[in-house]
Amino acid sequence: MRLEGKVALVTGSSQGIGQGIAIGLAQEGAHIIINYRSATDAPKETEDAVKALGRDFISCQADVTKLDEIQAMVDAGVQRFGQIDILVNNAGVEKHADFWEVTEHDYDMVMDVNLKGSFFTAQAVVKTMMAKKVAGRIINISSVHEDLPFPHFTAYCASKGGMKMMMRNLAIELAPYGITVNNIAPGAIETPINTKLLNDPEKLKALLENIPLARLGKPKDVSGVAVFLASADADYITGATIFVDGGLTWNYSEQ
Ligand code: NAP
Repeated sequence: MRLEGKVALVTGSSQGIGQGIAIGLAQEGAHIIINYRSATDAPKETEDAVKALGRDFISCQADVTKLDEIQAMVDAGVQRFGQIDILVNNAGVEKHADFWEVTEHDYDMVMDVNLKGSFFTAQAVVKTMMAKKVAGRIINISSVHEDLPFPHFTAYCASKGGMKMMMRNLAIELAPYGITVNNIAPGAIETPINTKLLNDPEKLKALLENIPLARLGKPKDVSGVAVFLASADADYITGATIFVDGGLTWNYSEQ
């Protein structure tokens, strides 16, 4: 196992890509700090999967837009496991609107979850890594839209573009502490965030025609790369974005 005994915090791991990454890391031996936001049940599916693999976990309800909740989650993780070795900044939201219709509320929500949340979760975790001299790993789930325009999703693209520069800066600033920082840029992955698209056969067909590998990605396609970046195999990689998009980025056009 490539991550035996490591401790990973995965934000937004109640479903979708975050859930896939939490399970992927646990399969390789990591204990998991599961994070979710919604006030309903604890993320039972993720918990059950991690438990079935024989790993320890705690589940923390925390809204990553709120610094006090981030801190409480990180404190709970350190209290339970002693340290955090891997942070996956995965929690994210998107909002479709014409640029001229975007409200301040929706702009703030997208930027606060995707960029501010990742920034301050990384900050809280990095402080513990530095204090405990952990050669940690930070992995941000950005998007192909850290580079690629996506009309009608301008705040989303701005947030993911911001994540790209945050990652590059932190890669340099944290390298002296042995902490690596990288992004994974997924293309179109089959998760609840894409429910509307998945239920629109015409749009789905058009999208699939633009994906050279001719299928949507699955959370497992992303989690494999997260495991790699968290493992010793990626010791010499920092400041990089790995695209997981079936070739979409180089063959994209908006209808
Ligand atoms: P998803 O199924 O909608 O899951 C999003 C997760 O983030 C949920 O667990 C959600 O928890 C959590 N979350 C949202 N706001 C949060 C907050 N303020 N604090 C804490 N957790 C919060 O989305 P997904 O498709 O798995 O996307 C995961 C990441 O991949 C996002 O950053 C997204 O931008 C990125 N991505 C996805 C795709 C794709 O095609 N799916 C492509 C490129 C990039 P609750 O349900 O409890 O709110």
